Amino acid sequence: MDYSCCELCPNMCKVDRTKGQIGRCGQTSEIRIAWSGLHRGEEPPITGEKGSGMIFFCGCPLHCQYCQNYQISQKGWDGVSLSEDELASLMVELQNFGAASINLVTGTHYIPSIANAIPKAREMGLRLPIVWNSSGYESVPALKMIDPYIDVYLIDVKTLDSCVAGKFCGLERYAKDIVPVMKFLKRRYSVTDLEDPKGPHGVLVRHLVFPGCLTATMDFLQWYADNFKDCCQLSLMVQFVPPLENPGFEKMTQDEYDSLIDALDRLEIDGFVQEMDENEILWIPDFRRDQPFPESFADPLPYFLDLKKGKA
Ligand code: SF4
Repeated sequence: MDYSCCELCPNMCKVDRTKGQIGRCGQTSEIRIAWSGLHRGEEPPITGEKGSGMIFFCGCPLHCQYCQNYQISQKGWDGVSLSEDELASLMVELQNFGAASINLVTGTHYIPSIANAIPKAREMGLRLPIVWNSSGYESVPALKMIDPYIDVYLIDVKTLDSCVAGKFCGLERYAKDIVPVMKFLKRRYSVTDLEDPKGPHGVLVRHLVFPGCLTATMDFLQWYADNFKDCCQLSLMVQFVPPLENPGFEKMTQDEYDSLIDALDRLEIDGFVQEMDENEILWIPDFRRDQPFPESFADPLPYFLDLKKGKA
């Protein structure tokens, strides 16, 4: 599987990205990074003391209307072009900068390059666990290609309801396409232990409750409890940040939140649950800046800023 007839995600565009063609993800085979640095907004076991070592890739095969990274996922922000060797060096520099993990954000459409860069980084001394942080919109053959290099999956399961998927993710079929991905991960990982002293491993499923879609979330929780609660962990997020151009979404009520907590208890699901107002995020990152996030959340990687300056 490579870029010449791209089938890395279920969009199956079959374009030749090596010749500059682009599919729904909007990217050729040239690796483009929007930002890299330490970030302290991830779940505690992979954030550590100083932060998770983030690498945000430009482009995305999904077009979620609420995406906080809209600027880089859909709006065509160019970012910085890197070779596979530079991507490997970036990982090692994140380790030198104090990262607790290497966190690859939306790398789906760059899987062949990332699968080459990680072993190079290991040869250069990279010891950190690798986190695959994605929407789950990979084809199973593409997942098989990257899986040998991944320690922890942070996988979104946005919804199993095609109407909700169409409204919020821009693709009704996402609701069906996520199922084989989760089945693959279940076969691969029988246990998730993010606190293992030998290093975190397994699958952390992230689910964001969409406004007005509590029933779809309850259906998802039942499905998760029936199939995945013994092998995965759940991170339930309740703070939907409305898109800038469409701020008119209702906030979750306390009664709705309480019913979610009751459902988690009833279904005996463990994991992380966001508080209703704790660490409420009211900002959208601006990737045109060297520091797109509030300073308390993130530190840009000097090596990345040097690359950015050198290639400007
Ligand atoms: S990664 Fe997905 S969206 Fe991008 S070209 Fe390949 S099949 Fe299409």
